[in-house]
Amino acid sequence: MSSLQAPRGTFDVLPADAGRRTALEEHARRILGAAGYGRIETPTFEATDLFARGVGEATDIVQKEMYTFDDGGGRSMTLRPEGTAPVCRAYLEHGMHKQPQPVKLWYLSSFFRAEAPQRGRYRQFWQVGAEAIGSAGPETDAELILLLADLLQAVGVRQSRLRLSSLGTAATRREYREELRSFLRAHEDGLSPEVISRIDLNPMRAFDAGDRRTQETMRDAPILLDRLAPEDAEHFAEVRRLLDDAGLVYELDPTLVRGLDYYARTVFEFTSDALGAQSGVGGGGRYDGLIEQLGGPATPGCGWAAGVERMLLAAGEQPAAAELVDLFVAIAPNGSHQTAFKLANDARRAGLRAQLELAGRGLKGQLKHADRLGARYVAIIDDQMRINLKDMEAGDQTEVEPAAVIPTILRGSRVA
Ligand code: ATP
Ligand code: MG
Repeated sequence: MSSLQAPRGTFDVLPADAGRRTALEEHARRILGAAGYGRIETPTFEATDLFARGVGEATDIVQKEMYTFDDGGGRSMTLRPEGTAPVCRAYLEHGMHKQPQPVKLWYLSSFFRAEAPQRGRYRQFWQVGAEAIGSAGPETDAELILLLADLLQAVGVRQSRLRLSSLGTAATRREYREELRSFLRAHEDGLSPEVISRIDLNPMRAFDAGDRRTQETMRDAPILLDRLAPEDAEHFAEVRRLLDDAGLVYELDPTLVRGLDYYARTVFEFTSDALGAQSGVGGGGRYDGLIEQLGGPATPGCGWAAGVERMLLAAGEQPAAAELVDLFVAIAPNGSHQTAFKLANDARRAGLRAQLELAGRGLKGQLKHADRLGARYVAIIDDQMRINLKDMEAGDQTEVEPAAVIPTILRGSRVA
């Protein structure tokens, strides 16, 4: 083995894995395309400032996980750690706010985060994402959630669970966090030292503390969902009604958080119990303040992102259908390589999946290889320029006029 290896936390996609990834992409294209989402691709790196403003200075991503570099001209650039901020940047840059709203976009791209690598957590990974920008209606939230549920189902994600909540507005959250802090301070004797030490920084963490006594204390804690302003509560009730009507099962989780101030209202996350510690498959929510944060006009938005590798892990081993070969062109001793090459090429132009012997095997070895490839027909070019066509399933072999080889196989595949 060479001493050169892929960087820690990255991986090669080998042909054996490529089939499942292509199938996933095809599902995404079909499901999102049918709902009017257009594909978008943004650059692999962007100005660091986009993520500082669009993901948030206070997040783990910006604090610890970004690959940031100088572009050689004194400008700070960052390998994209997520897709929402770049898509919103593109929305503004291309004047999409002047198009009919909402603008619906989807992507499948790779993202980069400097994390501790483990199963389902990489430094370069892929996400499918969808964003609907310019609609504040609860139907948009519900549509997006249902589309992600459809995608997970199509991919075969096992034991998936949906958690749902509403964050209200930034003002509601500020007031609520104060109320929660007061509650925690008043109940310090029922909390673990770790939770107490985080009361100021991140009081919400108390909800997912592992410690039993803290969990018991938190049963009486005030809940953000009970503090929503009437219009936010109504929006959330409508999202829930639409999901209920669609028969989608979810759990309300009032502790589901997205750390940033421009998040508003709906948040959701799909997890899979088939995954270990990295159980998050995909999630998202409403980000009504983001476009304004990036310098654009006040514009509502909602979206999600789902990890390709996590979806495939959660789908388990599902062997991709083998790529079949219609024709393998074999060359007998002293047979014409030129004729063989032309036949394989003509067959591909006629729409057949055709391969040519390229390794200099003996005829026996070639037939064995054709069998390994699952070839339906083998054309053997002999030293007299004759072509014998062998039907690998039936086992019979007949001499065929050169011009009749491809039509014969085409007829055969139409029957199959
Ligand atoms: P986690 O809690 O696992 O760190 P996250 O909250 O950082 O996830 P998001 O930023 O919401 O995740 O990204 C959406 C999805 O992208 C995740 O649900 C997950 O499937 C996938 N994902 C995120 N980070 C990674 C990573 N480092 N490697 C592989 N997939 C990832
Ligand atoms: Mg993370």
